[in-house]
Amino acid sequence: MLRLTDLKLPLDHDDAALPAAIIARLGIHADELTGFTVAKRSYDARRRGAIVLIYSVDVETPREADILQRLELDPEAAAAGEQGDGAAASGSGKVGASPDTSYRFVARARDAMPLRPLVIGTGPCGLFAALVLAQMGFRPIVLERGKAVRERTVDTFGLWRKKVLNPESNVQFGEGGAGTFSDGKLYSQISDKRHHGRKVLTEFVAAGAPDEILYVSKPHIGTFRLVSMVEHMRATIESLGGEIRFSSRVDDLLIDTDADGVRHIRGVTLAGGGEIRSDHVVMALGHSARDTFAMLHTRGVFLEAKPFSIGFRIEHPQSLVDAARFGPQAGHPLLGAADYKLVHHARNGRSVYSFCMCPGGTVVAAASEPGRVVTNGMSQYSRNERNANAAIVVGITPEDFQPYAPEGGPLAGIALQRHWESNAFALGGGEYEAPGQLVGDLLAGRASSAFGSVVPSYTPGVRLGDLSGALPEYAITAIREALPAFDRQLRGFAMHDALLTGVETRTSSPLRITRHADGQSLNTRGLFPAGEGAGYAGGILSAGVDGIKAAESVAMAMVAAGHAR
Ligand code: FAD
Repeated sequence: MLRLTDLKLPLDHDDAALPAAIIARLGIHADELTGFTVAKRSYDARRRGAIVLIYSVDVETPREADILQRLELDPEAAAAGEQGDGAAASGSGKVGASPDTSYRFVARARDAMPLRPLVIGTGPCGLFAALVLAQMGFRPIVLERGKAVRERTVDTFGLWRKKVLNPESNVQFGEGGAGTFSDGKLYSQISDKRHHGRKVLTEFVAAGAPDEILYVSKPHIGTFRLVSMVEHMRATIESLGGEIRFSSRVDDLLIDTDADGVRHIRGVTLAGGGEIRSDHVVMALGHSARDTFAMLHTRGVFLEAKPFSIGFRIEHPQSLVDAARFGPQAGHPLLGAADYKLVHHARNGRSVYSFCMCPGGTVVAAASEPGRVVTNGMSQYSRNERNANAAIVVGITPEDFQPYAPEGGPLAGIALQRHWESNAFALGGGEYEAPGQLVGDLLAGRASSAFGSVVPSYTPGVRLGDLSGALPEYAITAIREALPAFDRQLRGFAMHDALLTGVETRTSSPLRITRHADGQSLNTRGLFPAGEGAGYAGGILSAGVDGIKAAESVAMAMVAAGHAR
């Protein structure tokens, strides 16, 4: 097949326009276009009122060999989309052979395997590690501290509706991991030469996601579907001989040191004392497993502090964002609810940026520890709630952790997070309400006392006041400077009534469980740190991709040990 990229058409084009554009681009006759599929559809909204759709398509034509041969002879024409045979090649574009995005397993387990691999965590990373290991015949045992997703949903709503936090079953912990109650955005900027992202999306579709995630440029799933997809993936793993154990928190590691001083993992100890032996353990903990990070540190597993970001959630009317981004074409069904991505480099040297933007969604309580308040965002597939929300965060580095953990070390970022999350709990009144302030009041330096036109979506509730003491001074200064700058990028962004709630502290892991190129911990063989908690992913798609890589690393180690081929 041929892949054509960068085919631009008006937003309201009719069905015949795309095949016509393909025919024109390739300079072929209509009856030589025997089929095509859309590989990607995005839009360019830089000119409001004149939004264009941009397609990449895979084309079937009996002229394929002839066209590819011409392109080989004339690579410049390939880049320009011209065939050199008198074809109309209007506009820019590229033509080439369609990439092979099919997934190939790296190994196959032998029937007799002395010990099965373990996967810790059922977030996207753990789920994909387990799925791919199961598909290769390794029959992994998966250990998850939280509950199965339906029971977990009840507990999560317990915080949102009744202000009762279950520290083992919440937005962060339980089947499906942190992304289950989310916007389900499925895109990432990772480099993905081996098309692992395609494998993730294909498996999601097999588990019940809409087909469109395979081709729209910014796919999302929303919360409700994610719940049933996670259950579907669990059933697939079990049908392939894998085993998933809930309420099974790993509290310790069994580690041997050999005659050469090399440390090897030999298994794990569960809360309550049971042991499971294994020489291959994928650690896909997520960024909130603070107790497990502390255990790894105590056990001497190599960890290092890493940068992350802190800030607030901001809410606007979704209609304001739609109008600012799409102008008269706001509300078009192919565009959906508008998103945004904003960056500002503040004079104090800090970068402020929008993160995890959830169009038409809600702000959610995302704490996993009692006495702390953390915000995040989610939405449903329809994205039709009244407010848009996003985190507005400031980048911080390990030097910023020092005041909270003078002794330093890899856990120092957690001390900073805990400090500001506890502070937010107190500012919110001590019952899991989040502290909030209107943008106009933050900019004017006065406390807020009444909501304006933006009704907060966060439950258990928002307590208005003054957020200037809710984050370090440098972060507040940078955010105060960024808001008017963002208003210049997206008109209305700094509207007086836009609402800030805090605090957003779990943007990514505060540490890295550093690994070698073979996927194993820097100083503990057989331990495969992976996903967001290990510092190797950020978001559902990249965590899934990293899970596949972890499964491949385990498989290759098992080939080397003679347990696979
Ligand atoms: P996690 O998903 O955090 O999973 C880790 C799992 O390990 C958890 O289930 C946990 O219970 C388990 N675990 C931890 N410690 C132990 C232990 N000791 N023993 C056993 N089990 C353990 N990303 C996007 O790309 N798009 C979005 O729209 C999006 N929205 C989000 C909305 C919210 C509310 C949140 C909280 C996150 C969102 N994210 C989103 C981020 C995304 O969810 C994470 O990047 C992703 O889930 C990381 O995957 P992971 O598998 O590495 O870790």
